[in-house]
Amino acid sequence: MSENLLTVAYIVASAFFILSLSGLSNPETSRRGNIYGIIGMSIAFLATAFLSPNVSNYGLLLAVIIPGVIIGAILASRVAMTSMPELVAILHSFVGAAAVLVGIGSYLQHPTFPTTAEKTIHDIEIFVGVFIGAITFTGSVVAFGKLRALISSASLMIPGRHLLNLAMLLACIFLGYQFVTADHTNGLQPLLIMTAIASVLGIHLVAAIGGGDMPVVVSMLNSYSGWAAAAAGFMLSNDLLIVTGALVGSSGAILSAIMCKAMNRSIFSVIMGGFGTTSGTAPASGELPEGEVTPISIEETVHLLTEARHVIIVPGYGMAVAQAQHAVAEITKILRAKGVTVRFGIHPVAGRLPGHMNVLLAEAKVPYDIVLEMDELNRDFPTTDVALVIGANDTVNPAALDDPNSPIAGMPVLEVWKAQFSIVMKRGMASGYAGVENPLFFKENNRMLFGDAKKNVDAILAQLIENKGRNGD
Ligand code: NDP
Repeated sequence: MSENLLTVAYIVASAFFILSLSGLSNPETSRRGNIYGIIGMSIAFLATAFLSPNVSNYGLLLAVIIPGVIIGAILASRVAMTSMPELVAILHSFVGAAAVLVGIGSYLQHPTFPTTAEKTIHDIEIFVGVFIGAITFTGSVVAFGKLRALISSASLMIPGRHLLNLAMLLACIFLGYQFVTADHTNGLQPLLIMTAIASVLGIHLVAAIGGGDMPVVVSMLNSYSGWAAAAAGFMLSNDLLIVTGALVGSSGAILSAIMCKAMNRSIFSVIMGGFGTTSGTAPASGELPEGEVTPISIEETVHLLTEARHVIIVPGYGMAVAQAQHAVAEITKILRAKGVTVRFGIHPVAGRLPGHMNVLLAEAKVPYDIVLEMDELNRDFPTTDVALVIGANDTVNPAALDDPNSPIAGMPVLEVWKAQFSIVMKRGMASGYAGVENPLFFKENNRMLFGDAKKNVDAILAQLIENKGRNGD
């Protein structure tokens, strides 16, 4: 009876996970999507805890679950939006580590099988699960280090690195053959050696990818963590874990493909640790682009904005750090009330996580219909009077289009320099996450409004309100 109930609960939980994914595909329904996910996970957890015949040692389970829940809740509630990718990366590493431990634990149980074919299938499940898990674990730890700036975000270019990857892969395949053909106890050695090699492979694959391509890496590791969970589901004969893992794995793969398309990168090259790219060969920082930097004041910025007919605002990571979105929303309201057409241009990898800018602008209640994707807006820059760049850098860098040796070469960017004037708000001349100099700052029609984005947008807002009061409009 409880087995049947468990199956029903797993089917209901799977349905909630699918509803959750569909809700998360749109900012307007994403809150609902999250709630469906929470309900699905609660059903899955309670059903496994109380209906599964495999769960009995409640004392041990509570001893690990309670501290886990407390630590997780504290960390997740404290994390800043800008640090979310780091949290996601480290959580992926836990899934990878869990798959490795489940695989090795599953092997050490030495279950007996009625036929050799069943034993072989189980061994393959273990081997593949541990392989993906180890790559996910170490790859995610390196991604965490890069996103948290604990290690350099530049790509690590070891000579002959693709041959090295290939050699590691072939060694793992050979060890897989040894593992599957070994008798009951002799497989542990090849399994552990493969775990060590796959761990090094995970480090190397992610270390080879430059800062600008990190969004794809994070979504790729998300996908790997899903496949690692699905593999653990096969090892444990847990249908829900297989379904959930497959959902995470395939949605992560689809997201990676979308990000690759947006960044004009080949998904194969990203999976292979930058295979076939020259990314990182010319870090470009240090060589200053030609031209002069022209600063602008708050008064001049307000003048240009109020005189404009068409304005495009391009937000980036700096707006998120400064938490300037609410004042930006107020500025937008005032300009629109004056008859200025204001739209927002969103680059698919702006900020530090997919949809980062959309979330911030939605939180500040900027109407969805004026928030447009890069593709929808790029052709409009030549007819735009002012492009206001707030804390964005890599996503508006013309070197991506003009300099074939740039680490971000080929990535589509918001072509703000085609507007009559572009105004860039940032604190100094520092480069963006990809570590590349930005020739935009030196263009003749570009102005730099230096300082913290929040301080500057507050000052623009104050001046607009003052002008409004003075003019009585
Ligand atoms: P960038 O990281 O390229 O640049 C942000 C700029 O904001 C910096 O140059 C910085 O300059 C400025 N800044 C920082 N703090 C402030 C502040 N308080 N006030 C004003 N300016 C500030 O941002 P983009 O959004 O243009 O590009 C995102 C980058 O991150 C891309 O390279 C992308 O590939 C990468 N990435 C994206 C992820 C995603 O999923 N979206 C995940 C991981 C990486 P200064 O210090 O001079 O102020």
